Order: sequence, then C-alpha cells, then structure tokens
Amino acid sequence: MRRKIITKDLILREIEENKEEYIRFLVELIQTDSYNPPGNEKNVAVKIEKYLNDAGVETKLFPFGDNRANLVASLNNNFNNKNLLYNGHMDVVPPGSLEDWKYPPLSGTIKRNKFIYGRGATDMKSGTAAIVVALKILKKLNIKVNGNLIVNAVADEETGGEGGTKWSIENVLKPYNIDLTIIAEPSRLNPLPRAIMVGEKGRLVLKITVYGVSTHASMPFMGINPIYIMSKIIEKLDKLEDYIPKIKPPLSTDKLKKMVAASFPSFEIFERIYNEQPLLQNALRALTEFTKSLTIINGGIKDNVVPDKCEALIDFRLLPGQEALVIINALKSLIEKDLKITVKTDNSKELKVPYVDIEINQFSEPSYWKDWESSKTLQKFKTIADDIYGKKSFFIIYTASADAHYLRNSGFCPQTVLFGPGVGTTAHSVNEYVEIEDYLNAIKVYTFFAYDFLK
Ligand SMILES: [Zn+2]
Repeated sequence: MRRKIITKDLILREIEENKEEYIRFLVELIQTDSYNPPGNEKNVAVKIEKYLNDAGVETKLFPFGDNRANLVASLNNNFNNKNLLYNGHMDVVPPGSLEDWKYPPLSGTIKRNKFIYGRGATDMKSGTAAIVVALKILKKLNIKVNGNLIVNAVADEETGGEGGTKWSIENVLKPYNIDLTIIAEPSRLNPLPRAIMVGEKGRLVLKITVYGVSTHASMPFMGINPIYIMSKIIEKLDKLEDYIPKIKPPLSTDKLKKMVAASFPSFEIFERIYNEQPLLQNALRALTEFTKSLTIINGGIKDNVVPDKCEALIDFRLLPGQEALVIINALKSLIEKDLKITVKTDNSKELKVPYVDIEINQFSEPSYWKDWESSKTLQKFKTIADDIYGKKSFFIIYTASADAHYLRNSGFCPQTVLFGPGVGTTAHSVNEYVEIEDYLNAIKVYTFFAYDFLK
C-alpha cells in the first residue's frame, strides 16, 4: 500500500482546489429554512448528512419533534483514544421584517466574490459548514490518525439548547472522553480581532408580578394600586447587591486588559485605544461584574381603571460561579425585608393582596474553563488560528451566552471554547453576512488543528 505523506500543503491544496464547492455548500445551508422558532433543523441536517455520506463519512441523524434533528458524525469508529469535538448549531433566528433586508435572508447572495449574505451567514451556518467541511477533508485525504474527530450539528441553540447540545451530550456523546471541544460560533468582536472564548456570563431573566386590587380610578381608596408597589421595588433595586454574597470574577480587569492587549502590537497601543473607547471599557467592565437591567414594564389596562397587577422583567447577567437561586433569594429578601411585602413561594396557599410573584422567564448558566491557561492543546489551537488568519487572536470570556455551559458545567467537557467565522455584531441583525475569506480560513483552522491534534 502506498503510504500517503500528508502535509499541510496537501490540505491547503485540497482547500484551494475545492473552495467553490465549500462556498456552494454554505450557500445551500443558508438557503435552507431553519428559522427557530419553530426550528425545522432537520432540513439542514439532511443536507449535512448527504454531503458527508457522499464523502464516505458515516453520520447518525436523530430526528425529534416536528421536523427537527441533531446529527453526529465522526472520522472513524474508534473513540478509545483522544477525541476532538466540533459543535455547531443548525438553527437560526427568524429574519424579522423582510423589507429591511438588502438581499432576501434565505437567498445566500454572493456579492463581489467577497461576501455571502443571508440569515445565519455569521450565526452560525458558516461555522457549522466549516466544521463539516473540515471533517470531509480529513476523510477524503485518508489521513492516518490516532484518535477521532466528532462533529455534532445541533438544533435548538437559539431557544436554549436543551433539545440540541444538551440532548446530544446526554444521549449520544456521554460515553466518549473528549479532550477539547470547539464550538464554531462567530467570535470576531468588532472592532477587536477574533477571540477564543473560554467562558461566558450567565443570563437570568426574572418576571416580577405585583398583585393588587383593581378598582375604578374615581375611588382609588377602594383598591390597592400594584403600579405604586412596583415603583417602590424598582427604587430599591440598587440595594439588591447587599443580599448577594460577593463573588470574585474569574478574571480581574487587569488580567482581562492583558488578555485583550495580546492581540495588539503592544500594551501601550492597547492602553491608548482602551482609554479612548468607552465600548471597550464597558465590555471589560461587564465581564467583571454582576449586572442587572430592568427591561420591560407592563401595568394597566385602561386610563380610568386601577389595575390588579403590574409586571416587570429584569435581565440579570451572572458571573461564572453565580447561581440563579442566589439572585432569586436576594430579590425575595429585598422585597420582604425592605418593603414588607409577601413573596409567593411554591408552598404559598391563598395569599392576601398585595403580594409579589417571581418567575424565571429565561435562564442560561454562566460557565468558565478554569484551567484554560495551562492547556497546551489550546495554545496550539491559538497558534494555528493566528497563523492562518495572519492576526493575533485573544482569549476572553463573553457577555452573551451559547451552548458551552452544557459542556463545561456538566463535567462532560470543561475544556470547551468558542471560536468561529463571522462577526459577532452582525449576528441576529438584518443583512447578516460573512466574508468568504473568513469562512475559508475557518475551514483551514479546523482542518489543520484536527490534523495536528490527531496525527
Ligand atoms: Zn449562534
């Protein structure tokens, strides 16, 4: 048997010769409807399945619900050595108002041979397509490996991930020992270069409802106006931190500054830009603090009626290590101790008005890979990425949240990072696009790194 000598040049040539095919594949995924809600990720999954099967890669498709699915594919059938996991979601957020789009969101329009437009171009059909293509390339080049590359294309990320990444871990991937997971989420943080995200803040949205007594506005003393009570709660909200145990952020501001500065020519240049850029200052500040924002308030039905309830939604961003229950209990204490208003609990029977109900509207756990700095594998990944993009990336934790917490917090694979093509700021917005070169570079990074990891 002729032993193929695989070099990076061979991979590069393969990518150069077939880039039109990779671009067509991405365009095809963008043209495939997987708006979530409702999902329809199976539309995308069957295209990935066909693309990989045609290249001789075995895939497993796991359908669920109404036209939804997750997919797991691997380079070979041996999971006993080291394993590398690439994760990408197939669902995209709905397009919003179609008139606002320059090119229809399902068109996958290519412009000036430089950009691809469409919903999911950045978040994250380019990332998902790139990890799939990387797997195909390794298979096609028949590279002899000492381990396995697993690709998990998931549903449901945009609506919480329980049916996607969480399901895949619990039902398919759990028996495997994974050395490193890369989630191919867009990680370029304009105006900064590309980041490698080693942690994320959590998000907790609580709905507070104050129940009072409705009455005609001409006789207010007949009722209890919940809007006044809500305004008292809001006034006190800044005291909430008194009830939350202090927690040290995983990374100090100084440390974060050094991490970001690593992508600049020098620390001095970074400092100068940092001092001129409120966005940068605030972004780093948000990574070291627990934050809260009152975002929605609803109360009243008619201008001559005292309403019976008033609702408010508060968006809390949690530091790694902070738990939802701590925040809920703090809010409860604040309302009961400072304002002497009853808060409903699971055991509450009939409550006397006025009282307050606190419900979880949304929750995504914070997570953090504690030992990222000592990982040689991660350093190697960064070296490869920096080399291919020709720019220094930087490590950071992120204010938004993705599926990484399912991997990190379950203990399944704490060593999980986010890194992928696309610009974070165009995600979820109209005229979402990705640069073709960025997409092709991501394919190179994922292929080279997997080759390097498994050789
Ligand atoms: Zn995403």
